[in-house]
Amino acid sequence: MKQSLKDKENRELSAYGITRREFLWLSAMTGVGFMTGCAVNPVTGQRELMLMSEAQEISIDKQNSPHQISADYGTSLDRDLSNYVSRVGQSVVKNSHRPEMPYTFHTLNAAYVNAYAFPGGTIGITRGILLTLENEGELASLIGHEAGHVSARHTSQRMTRGLIAAVLVSGATVAAGDQMGDLVAGLGGIGAGALLAGYSRNQEREADALGLEYMALSDYNPEGFLGLMDMLNDMSNKNESYVATLFSTHPMSSERYETAVKAVRSGYAEERETRPIFKERYMDHTAGLRKIGPAIKAMQDGDGMMMQKNPGNAREHYERSLKTAPEDYAGNLKMAKCLMALEKHQDANRYAQKARQIYPEEHQAKHVLGMTHLRLKNFEQALAQFDAYEQGLPGNPNTIFFQGFSLEGMGRREDAAQKYYNYLQQVNQGEYAQHAHTRLKEWGYI
Ligand SMILES: [Zn+2]
Repeated sequence: MKQSLKDKENRELSAYGITRREFLWLSAMTGVGFMTGCAVNPVTGQRELMLMSEAQEISIDKQNSPHQISADYGTSLDRDLSNYVSRVGQSVVKNSHRPEMPYTFHTLNAAYVNAYAFPGGTIGITRGILLTLENEGELASLIGHEAGHVSARHTSQRMTRGLIAAVLVSGATVAAGDQMGDLVAGLGGIGAGALLAGYSRNQEREADALGLEYMALSDYNPEGFLGLMDMLNDMSNKNESYVATLFSTHPMSSERYETAVKAVRSGYAEERETRPIFKERYMDHTAGLRKIGPAIKAMQDGDGMMMQKNPGNAREHYERSLKTAPEDYAGNLKMAKCLMALEKHQDANRYAQKARQIYPEEHQAKHVLGMTHLRLKNFEQALAQFDAYEQGLPGNPNTIFFQGFSLEGMGRREDAAQKYYNYLQQVNQGEYAQHAHTRLKEWGYI
C-alpha cells in the first residue's frame, strides 16, 4: 500500500515524541528551516532523524561557543598549557568517527571542574578539571569522551527530539559557575548553557565507550580511562558546587562507572601492560597551573559562596586567591563582580580595569568594567566598554540594553531609544524590557 510522504514524516516525528506542529515551530525557532531529514549516524552507521545538518552543527557552534568561552573567562594565557591540551586533543580526535570536524581545544580560565563539547567540535576544558587530572592518559580519555559526544551527534539528537528547543530562543543562562556575579555584571548569557544541557544516560554511556576507543586507538594506556572514571566517581560522591555543572551535563552513576571499568578490564590486557600513561609529561606541562592550584581552589570556594548569595564571604576567598595569583585574569574579574554585589563599585572598577589590562583580548572584562562605570554614573566610559564588548562578541541582547542605558544617562535620547527598540525586538520580558518599554512610551516612540 502506498503511503503519502507526509504520513511517513508524521510517524517519524511522533516516534520522537513531537507533533508536526511542534516540529515546525522548533524548526522556525532554531532557524534550521525544513526537515534536514534522515542522516547516517557516523558512529552507529544507522539512519536517524536529524534536525541539523553538519553545516548547521558547525554554525550553531560558531554562534554560541564564543559566549560560553568568554563566560568561562576565556582561554588560558598559559600558552604552553594551551598548546599541550590542543596537541593531545588533536591526537585523539584524528581517531574519532568524525576526524574532518573543525575541532578546537580551549583551556578555559574558569575555576570550576568541567569539560564540554559544542556540536561543531569546539571543546572546552577548565583549569579546575585539569588540576584534578593526574596524567596525559586521563586527559586523552576526557577529550575522547567529549569527541564521542560530537561524533555521535548527541546535540543534534537532543535538538531533534525537542529537548533543547528553547536554546536559541529564550536566552537562558550560560553554564558558568558564578551566576550571581554574572547577574550583577549584567551579562545574562545567551543560551549556550541550554545548548550544553544534560546528555541522557544512554548518550553518556555511548560517549564513554567512544572515549575509551579513541584514546586507545591513539596509543594511550587505557588505565588512563580508569583513572578518569575513578576521579569522576569520587567527585560525584562529594556533591560540591564546583562540580555541579559537570554532573548536570554529564550524568554520573555507579552503573556508568561499572560499565566503563568493565570495558577497560575486559578488552585491553596487553595495552594496559605495555603502554605508558605519560604522567611526567602531564606534570611538566601543568606545572604552572599547579603552582597556582591553591588560587584556583580559593576561586572555587569563592564561587560557591557567590552561588549561596554570600558575597561577603566570597570576598575573603577571592582575596586569598589573589594573594597566590595576583595577575590572574579570572581572579581579578571574579573579585570585581563580588565587589559589585557588595555595592563597592569604586573598588570593583579597579579590579575590572586590572583584569582588562591583563587580558585585553578577552571580552568579559569589558562588560564588567562597563557595568562598574555605569554604577559610578560614568556613562560615557560605560558606553565605550559596552561598544567594545558588542564589537568583539556580538549577540548578547543585554549589552544592547546597557548601551541604551548608558546613552540615556548621557542624555542622547534618540540613540538610547534605538538601542531599547533593538533590545525589545530580542527580549520582551523582565526588568530590562520593562525599563526599555517604559522609556520608549514616555519619549513618545510607542
Ligand atoms: Zn558526557
